[in-house]
Amino acid sequence: MKQTRQSLWIRLKEKKNILFDMPNAPKKINRSWVPERKAFSRPVDFSWFYNQTKWRKFSKKYRQNNPVCVACEVQGIVSPAEVTDHVEGIENILKACRNPIDEKECQSLCHSCHNSKSGKESHRKKIKGG
Ligand SMILES: [Zn+2]
Repeated sequence: MKQTRQSLWIRLKEKKNILFDMPNAPKKINRSWVPERKAFSRPVDFSWFYNQTKWRKFSKKYRQNNPVCVACEVQGIVSPAEVTDHVEGIENILKACRNPIDEKECQSLCHSCHNSKSGKESHRKKIKGG
């Protein structure tokens, strides 16, 4: 059977109605303890800053001068510095119009300490709600 354009259109409309009118649609479960996901709630991306040659050179030099992870050092562990971290966070430094390429703003961290630091920071942001 040859289908006309119109019959196809009607079938499409019917299909749409079925999709919109789902009797078994998943109901929203109220789980107040689970924070609602917000679209684009990721922190601002500062890769534009970290990809700068100026920062890369500074960061490399900084880790050569400060080759030990400061957070591990406090616990009596000596770990090689792998990340040049901004003590107060790049976002806060830029907001305060301070120079992020400054030894005073930085500390050497290993990957594991840096990850746990950023993890804590984003967790704090979630609790505050932004
Ligand atoms: Zn460490």
